[in-house]
Amino acid sequence: MGLLNWKHSSTYPTTPHRHRVAILDNSGSDVSKEKGTLIFKGQLYGTLGTGDIVAVNIPLSKTCPHKNAWHSNLKRYKQLHRVIESMCAEYKNEIFPISTCSSMVAPMKRATTWLMKTLGRDVREGEMVFIEEVFGKESVFVDSVGRSRKDCRALDELIHFSFHESRGERVLCGLRGAVGANGVFHLTEPTVHSVSRTYGDTDRGVDGINRVLKEHKCTDKCRNWRALPVDDVLERCVPTAPPLHESFPNPESSSPSHIFPPQSLSSTHSHPPPYDAVNDVIADLPPSYSELFPCGRQ
Ligand SMILES: [Zn+2]
Repeated sequence: MGLLNWKHSSTYPTTPHRHRVAILDNSGSDVSKEKGTLIFKGQLYGTLGTGDIVAVNIPLSKTCPHKNAWHSNLKRYKQLHRVIESMCAEYKNEIFPISTCSSMVAPMKRATTWLMKTLGRDVREGEMVFIEEVFGKESVFVDSVGRSRKDCRALDELIHFSFHESRGERVLCGLRGAVGANGVFHLTEPTVHSVSRTYGDTDRGVDGINRVLKEHKCTDKCRNWRALPVDDVLERCVPTAPPLHESFPNPESSSPSHIFPPQSLSSTHSHPPPYDAVNDVIADLPPSYSELFPCGRQ
């Protein structure tokens, strides 16, 4: 999406029914190749965001007649949104400088000869495409293994927070997006590494989590959070792993400097975030922390 530079400020409704998107195939349209997907400039129709210019993702090698083809993309966005919501609450009165772009799956309005030639395959009208909101020129802030490309402390803290928010089950990285005029990071689809390895092809599982944790450099703020137990993540995946409560102390046994009071973690789980575009696509959520590690204390 790095070649797309258009701005708008709409937020899309979370139920993607009735959305359609037309690829703008006029000369000069930007095309970006990434992960087997071409990204085109498109325009929304029949929605609250009618006329908005968006980034439209279309696979190079396969057709997508069903929205389930974009299951992993939506799931990664949902995880990003969830972590941001939780972390924002922890900032309390401070200005929180991170938001997500909107995303959704919608049918393509028309399939042109130009589009088929560019993709190198047949394209049918109504094929499901993945749409991302565009805020400006995209940059990579943190790469897919957690190396910081720019000095963005809030994003480093987001990565650290994502590990604790998921109780050691997931970590965000691959943070890309645009910086708004107000200094807010508008993030697009991240990479998610998970113990359950259920976040798509870029999810490297426990190895991915460990790599990100090793690359992470704490800021003044996240340094006071619980230490990142890099070795424990590895150990708990082998039969000789120590009891879970030794690897991840429960909130009541944590040190006084622990920043998450017990009620903040429980409130995270008892109040699902409002964004639920993925729920009508995903039937099987990843196993819970307690399901994966039944011997551990909650
Ligand atoms: Zn940190």
